[in-house]
Amino acid sequence: MKIRSYELFQVPPRWLFLKIETDEGIVGWGEPVIEGRASTVKACVEELMEYLIDKDPLRIEDHWSMLYRSGFYRGGPILMSAISGIDQALWDIKGKYYNAPVYQLLGGACRDSIKVYSWIGGDRPSEVGHAAKMVADAGFTAVKMNATEELQYVDSYEKIDQVIERIAAVREAAGNYIGIGIDFHGRVHKPMAKILAKELEPFRPMFIEEPVLSENLEALRDIANHTTIPIATGERMFSRWDFKSLLADGYVDIIQPDLSHAGGITECKKIASMAEAYDVALAPHCPLGPIALASCLQVDATAYNAFIQEQSLGIHYNQGSDLLDYIKDASVFDYKDGYVSIPQGPGLGIEIDEEFVRKQAEVGHNWKNPVWRHKDGSIAEW
Ligand SMILES: [Mg+2]
Repeated sequence: MKIRSYELFQVPPRWLFLKIETDEGIVGWGEPVIEGRASTVKACVEELMEYLIDKDPLRIEDHWSMLYRSGFYRGGPILMSAISGIDQALWDIKGKYYNAPVYQLLGGACRDSIKVYSWIGGDRPSEVGHAAKMVADAGFTAVKMNATEELQYVDSYEKIDQVIERIAAVREAAGNYIGIGIDFHGRVHKPMAKILAKELEPFRPMFIEEPVLSENLEALRDIANHTTIPIATGERMFSRWDFKSLLADGYVDIIQPDLSHAGGITECKKIASMAEAYDVALAPHCPLGPIALASCLQVDATAYNAFIQEQSLGIHYNQGSDLLDYIKDASVFDYKDGYVSIPQGPGLGIEIDEEFVRKQAEVGHNWKNPVWRHKDGSIAEW
């Protein structure tokens, strides 16, 4: 079998889909995108695919190594997201070739489903309590929200009080035992992160996420020493080598590699195993589309330390084109009691609605993240 051709589809809300075709008629789908840089990743995929035409799609490990190691310069969000989508598509082809779900080819499942959390906002917060109640009523047992709006290096306790009010509203609306992931979104700097972590502790969050940016990971030591709340990070880390010192330093409890950013299924399975050896949990980042989610679930099925999965159903980014719109049979994910099933079909286990993809690609998108500024005019982290 040989790779014959490929196509890229830039589709709303902010995604990029890759379809790889083989000379045997088997096709594979991947989702190579970094949010806000879809066109740049598209150009990178086009460059990388030059090598793959006429190659055997089943030699995934070799192709991964070639794409990663033979470019001299390596790593980073653009290249690794491009490799990620290609890798997902190759696994989809491999699964279809052997008529098996990808998880079977990765060693077989250690779970049948996985807990998921639902996004409830918090960016420009007003109604988070109400949103939490709606999500809990829909059966979810865990939610995630942003902690704060923009926050200066050292900011006021008024902002801290506002954070506390919002978390208290979620607890009050959704009960003592709903899991609450609180995303600092890299918008908090070390001085305020320490204060926030301490103040949030009485609300017993499930985790705090990106308490500082991943370029400031040394600050995790101070934060970890200030709190018992589990610390999660990793959506802006792109390979085994990015995760290596994070794990060895020992201040992280949950890693969140993104299957569309951190080298795809091949790389994230390895990152998951590295984390397991440090007794660190896995919760893949996935505010993206159905191909990325299906890829995550295939790895979750085989990663013993996976405990929860992010997914984007109903997330604010998806208004107008949601997660399940692009697949023919939405029941493969089988949302039930806050859990999602591991898809059982061959490959990634989803069937892409290609007609809809083509229609939406004509609409396209040019999604960019918001730009925030502090009151003094300086750029704020979003
Ligand atoms: Mg996050």
